[in-house]
Amino acid sequence: MSDAPLSCEALLIEAAGLIGGETPRLDAELLLGYVTGWSRTTFRAWPEREVDVALVARFSTLVEQRCEGHPVAHLLGEQEFWSLPLKVNPSTLIPRPDTECLVEAALTLDLPESANVLDLGTGTGAIALALASERPGWRVSACDAISEAVDLAADNAARLSLPVTVRQSNWFAELPPAAFDLIVSNPPYIAGDDVHLGEGDVRFEPASALVAGSDGLDDIRRITAEAPAWLSPGGWLILEHGYEQGAAVRRLFTDAGFGSVETRKDYGRRDRLTLG
Ligand code: GLN
Repeated sequence: MSDAPLSCEALLIEAAGLIGGETPRLDAELLLGYVTGWSRTTFRAWPEREVDVALVARFSTLVEQRCEGHPVAHLLGEQEFWSLPLKVNPSTLIPRPDTECLVEAALTLDLPESANVLDLGTGTGAIALALASERPGWRVSACDAISEAVDLAADNAARLSLPVTVRQSNWFAELPPAAFDLIVSNPPYIAGDDVHLGEGDVRFEPASALVAGSDGLDDIRRITAEAPAWLSPGGWLILEHGYEQGAAVRRLFTDAGFGSVETRKDYGRRDRLTLG
């Protein structure tokens, strides 16, 4: 890319052309917004605004990294989820908009004012923090098997001043005894030989957050089997899963003794989560 001072619009057009993929213009705007500190509305309101050469050079470096496939969230070190700015790093999954459907489902449940809630495999802390931001009365805790994720989620909680307790635990294995009114999780659910693992952002995310055995259901099998012992009577479990796993996951819920089992769709109207 050129590194002379240039207008925002000229830089964005050039960068978007290089980036390609699904959201080239958005990616370019996010990266230029990051280096300039200008909001994305500036680019529309003042397209001829000139960007300083030093910033153009920084922008060019980020655009090159994006062209190599690095996720925008990793380049910015941040991803918005449920309108919360979350720090992200390569040790966890980057929060996805579809997971907001899981938060919405949790908020529709009729739970006690001070419900005891657990987010299993919290990663950045996204689901736990979204729930804590919406329901100040709920006692929200979260766990993750990876210590870097525990640190990241705790850091996000502190930055957002949200009272979420984060512990290190491989699913339920290291948790102190408790009875939860709601357990939520976006576990790994991709099959080990899935071709999509070679495409897009997932190439830069940890397999520990994505892959779960030969059918992608290893972790969901474990969670559905173990969750009943950790739920209070009438408590709920909500799990995110792949869009072709609805029937299999409903069966796992039913086999584990859950009632009121129901699958709901994501923003793309595909099966994405099951609750019971
Ligand atoms: N939904 C993510 C993807 O398809 C995967 C998330 C997960 O495995 N929990 O990229």
